[in-house]
Amino acid sequence: MAPHKQMPKTKKKSVSSQVSLDRGSPTLMRRINIRQLLDAMRILGPCSRVDLTRHTGLSAPTVSKVMKELLLRQLVETLSTPKQPSTGRPSTIYQLAREKIQFLGLVIDIEQCRIISAGLDGKEDPKRSRVFATPQTYADLITTVSRNLQQVAALKEGAEVLGVGVSVPGLIDESDGRQVLSPNVHFMDGCYPARDIANATGYVTQVVQEEKGLCLAEQLFGQARDLDDFAMIDISAGVGLGVINSGRFINGTRGFAGELGHITIAPNGLLCGCGNRGCLETVASDVAFSRLVMKKYPELKDLDDIIEAGQQGVLNISEEHQQAINALAIGMGVVINLFNPSDIFVYGRLFDVKEGSFDGLLKQVRNHAIGPSMDKVSIVRARGSKRLGALAAIIEYHMDTLAPRLG
Ligand SMILES: [Zn+2]
Repeated sequence: MAPHKQMPKTKKKSVSSQVSLDRGSPTLMRRINIRQLLDAMRILGPCSRVDLTRHTGLSAPTVSKVMKELLLRQLVETLSTPKQPSTGRPSTIYQLAREKIQFLGLVIDIEQCRIISAGLDGKEDPKRSRVFATPQTYADLITTVSRNLQQVAALKEGAEVLGVGVSVPGLIDESDGRQVLSPNVHFMDGCYPARDIANATGYVTQVVQEEKGLCLAEQLFGQARDLDDFAMIDISAGVGLGVINSGRFINGTRGFAGELGHITIAPNGLLCGCGNRGCLETVASDVAFSRLVMKKYPELKDLDDIIEAGQQGVLNISEEHQQAINALAIGMGVVINLFNPSDIFVYGRLFDVKEGSFDGLLKQVRNHAIGPSMDKVSIVRARGSKRLGALAAIIEYHMDTLAPRLG
């Protein structure tokens, strides 16, 4: 289930996507078939109609009919293949579109913004990407990211941009796309990034709160394809939580659920970006840990430096590291006790500082979660990225406009 389907009110459609989507709304059965075949192609990779028939159980005429429609809508492309020896006829191999169309993923983070281009299959093209420092005013942010989005799009000549997914930190009001509160990038508070990027570029733009993006990426492209009850804990900037329960993302009334980072663990602790003191994310995030270490070792400039020095064993940072791990373990215990997920994915790099520290975290979590829930939960590191989360948001949106996921 897509966690976020809201579009900014001022969304624009490119001319050709208007043409393709105006070819009539598919019936319910056709939508189900379309969705099933697109999902199957994501799992199978390049495949024939026979492969699709076998995988989905749909009849051969149905598969042929739907594939024809998907070709027309530019969602699928064909690959040329050698002739089959038995029949002398070339068999058509299909793949999710990636040559004539592109999606752009944009990550807005505390220090850096990243842009990547990918096809409908979500496979990133590292040659078509950009990284730049996050501008420090909102106007500058919109101008800079819009210019860079258009420049990255131009790197793939002739490939139409079907949309931009934007991963943002903080709270988004799902009713209108407003960035309500961004504790770590305050100048975005009250702004409408999707609307403003769409206006500046002309691209369909879908904004997604970063933890939701990570969940969606794990569902579409990662380890959570078949999972209905899982949690994603993101410690990379603040501490965020995404929970999929019975296949649905837990949003809350206005989409603000999951603010794990702002539970109080030290009432007189450090001042948090949200205005309160001693929130979990003032201790347990990659950024909080890095700030603490850089205060002690001013010559270290970022987490990369800390990880490198930490692995060489030249830093005395065991206490700071353990403090972050201990706090995170408390937060994870809360998640297990409240939601009883089958799986938890942890996104962050804190564990790269010291070998074995992820296993150490798992032992600690046991002290804060009730036994029966803890016994059955699988806790692993997430494989996705915020880039993939941004791409997943726009790809899912694009597919939803044609064939919404059911259930
Ligand atoms: Zn807080």
